[in-house]
Amino acid sequence: MVAEIISVGTEILLGNIVNTNAAYLSEQCALLGINCYYQDVVGDNRERIMGILRTALERADVLLIGGGLGPTPDDLTKETCAEVLGKQLYMDEAVKTSILDFFNRKGITPASNNFKQALVPEGAVVLENPNGTAPGLILEANGKHLILLPGPPNELVPMFEEKVKPYLQNLVPGTIYSKMVKLCGVGESAVAEQIADLIEGQTNPTIATYAKTGEVHLRVTAKAEDEKAAKQLVKPMVKELKERFGNHIYSTENDTTLEKAVVDLLLANKLTVATAESCTGGLLAGRLINVAGVSDVFKNGLITYSNKSKHRLLGVKKKTLEKHGAVSKETAEEMAKGLAALTKADVAVSVTGIAGPDGGTDKKPVGLIYISCSVCGKTTTREFTFTGNRAKVREASVAAGLNLMRESILEYYSKEIFGS
Ligand code: ATP
Ligand code: MG
Repeated sequence: MVAEIISVGTEILLGNIVNTNAAYLSEQCALLGINCYYQDVVGDNRERIMGILRTALERADVLLIGGGLGPTPDDLTKETCAEVLGKQLYMDEAVKTSILDFFNRKGITPASNNFKQALVPEGAVVLENPNGTAPGLILEANGKHLILLPGPPNELVPMFEEKVKPYLQNLVPGTIYSKMVKLCGVGESAVAEQIADLIEGQTNPTIATYAKTGEVHLRVTAKAEDEKAAKQLVKPMVKELKERFGNHIYSTENDTTLEKAVVDLLLANKLTVATAESCTGGLLAGRLINVAGVSDVFKNGLITYSNKSKHRLLGVKKKTLEKHGAVSKETAEEMAKGLAALTKADVAVSVTGIAGPDGGTDKKPVGLIYISCSVCGKTTTREFTFTGNRAKVREASVAAGLNLMRESILEYYSKEIFGS
């Protein structure tokens, strides 16, 4: 089974929007065990849409087409697909009613062109769109499947999840099951080296590596006749990875982020937390506050950017700042300790460093970061040198901060969440 992803929209070609739909759909195809050999982007132009549809129909079984289903005259996807397949459009009363309902709920009177969205090619399966007005459509012809999805990601993603995924699962024989093993505090190349033997000659299950800032994700995927059998294939591989990477694995759950893993650890141990940030300027606190339920543990987040604030709020000694500088192991440590004393938080974490692009010296280059974490009086401080621009350095610092928090808490309680 081969799929091709076609994104329709001149604004994608112009670079005005990033084609996140294609990334999402490609990933979903991989998860379903459907090969995807081409991704296309085409502008809002009838001839060119027609051209790419004809080409894709020759080389793929499933066409996932996103965008151009709106009410305006430049939305041509549906009309063009119908034309290529030689199908007529008719007014679908049910779709018309649901469009009316959508506008009623919002208290808006629909424009006459909105009903263009109720035109449906004959024989099409209509996919309801609870998040917008353009319904999705599935067209089948000559063994090919054309799946038309609305462009806005907040409409496309839920529609895919709820309607298209089950449809595609039915098309592919067998079941695909995958489990994500998420690591932090270990580099991509080190991970690759440690799993080289597992990757070599892999067939079923397979391991795919994804590198993120400060994290590496390994997706273990197996294919079998049913889910139970596929899970049985994945299980020993995940166990092997747990044995190899131990505490570097922070989760095997798809929707657990690094910050969620940290917050879960705080909650489980009934630990409160506070942050004092210099170069990351609140990003670390922001990541923690991404997690719903963090209010039970989060006490304070301070941005102590100036030397004065480090001294006045956190009690970093003037002598320390003069002798070692604001970006130093000593300052980071005094920041964490001072923060713990000030807030009475069980876990106090500080970040100080040079995010760049200016301010670096030979001894203290751009990207030099110190992070300190104090857990119930036991303080660990680490030095990092990150590369990249200011944003990248700050992002990497936050990931390292989360990881240091996690490791410090685990060490304090000498716990292994993933023992072998
Ligand atoms: P609408 O009813 O909003 O017109 P549509 O199905 O016609 O929906 P488009 O007009 O192609 O879709 O795109 C609408 C919006 O959806 C775009 O402005 C953009 O914000 C988003 N969008 C479209 N295609 C993509 C894509 N490939 N990746 C990410 N976002 C997209
Ligand atoms: Mg549109």
